[in-house]
Amino acid sequence: MSKILILPGDGIGKEIVAQAIKVINSLNDNNDMGMSLEDGLIGGAAYDETGSPLPDETIKLAKNCDSILLGAVGGPKWESLERNLRPERGLLGIRSELDLFSNLRPAILYPQLANASSLKSEIVSGLDLMIVRELVGGIYFGKPRGVEIKDGERFGINSATYYESEIARIGHSAFQIAQKRGKHVCSVDKANVLEVCELWREVMEEVSKDYPDVTLSHLYVDNAAMQLVKDPKQFDVIVTSNLFGDVLSDCAAMLTGSIGMLPSASLNKNNYGMYEPIHGSAPDISGKDIANPLATILSVSMMLRYSLNQEELAKKIDIAVIKVLDKGYRTADIAFEGDKVVGTMEMGDLIVEALES
Ligand code: NAD
Repeated sequence: MSKILILPGDGIGKEIVAQAIKVINSLNDNNDMGMSLEDGLIGGAAYDETGSPLPDETIKLAKNCDSILLGAVGGPKWESLERNLRPERGLLGIRSELDLFSNLRPAILYPQLANASSLKSEIVSGLDLMIVRELVGGIYFGKPRGVEIKDGERFGINSATYYESEIARIGHSAFQIAQKRGKHVCSVDKANVLEVCELWREVMEEVSKDYPDVTLSHLYVDNAAMQLVKDPKQFDVIVTSNLFGDVLSDCAAMLTGSIGMLPSASLNKNNYGMYEPIHGSAPDISGKDIANPLATILSVSMMLRYSLNQEELAKKIDIAVIKVLDKGYRTADIAFEGDKVVGTMEMGDLIVEALES
């Protein structure tokens, strides 16, 4: 029996997570896999109820479960709060509290959705790459940081820092994922300018010696950005630091043209993970039953694959999504002329139907 903590969060979070729960219930009913679900609070919803975007109770629940499924956090209602009370703080807090250092963001372009990309379909059709981003270190957390007065004017400072152990563990993550995929890792840095990146490159070379079946190449981040839009299918696994990964993974996501389709995982060293769609809480469409739930449903597939060791069940979900797309069903965000446009709830029902057929 695996215990899953459900954190719907804010905005469309509740609507899309409800569809993922339908999928989990269907898997429970039709397979031996027992997944028990527990509800928790995070983000604005948590602030409204407890005064904190990440209540202690949520951390306690998280530490007592096998995996977390998160919807999204944030929204205009909480934007004027002081920084450490904002919903997004809850997200950063839980990642760092659970040491979820390895962020996996696949960018997959389903052939059925090739029209959704802003690039020519021959460049992106069939794209399947994985970005492995270091999530709890680097310039987002390095000290010193802040804004101070220096030489009579305001002076801002952030520090890009990595211990070799932090680089090595994300390196191992990337190589192990590549072993299950196309066996190629491209490490992205800026070693021509930044000393911390020189160390990054050296450590990646050292880690690669443990994985003789995987090839390693290096790119500077500016070239990597260019290559991602020029010839994205050259990549299998990209491993990079927190800041570069933040930017490149959004760029890769946009190659697929459909933010509502992309799941993600954030793992610790024991493959304990938090799974969530890459998009935010989409306040503009919240409560209208039009949000695309597929990124969240595909996050359940990632959870089964990376944390719960249930590859067969993960594949079942992936196949159900393909079946539904093949039949021409689309939520509004991925629909083109001639498609059958369905709402959030109907899309969830269609995936369950495909799973059970
Ligand atoms: P967003 O991802 O919420 O929305 C961007 C655009 O994509 C919007 O037009 C939205 O309608 C659309 N969209 C997003 N998800 C969709 C889905 N599943 N189906 C259909 N369309 C979808 O980004 P934003 O508007 O910049 O941010 C809104 C709020 O979400 C902010 O408070 C932000 O801080 C927060 N946010 C949270 C996360 C997270 O929880 N991981 C990530 C990004 C942004």
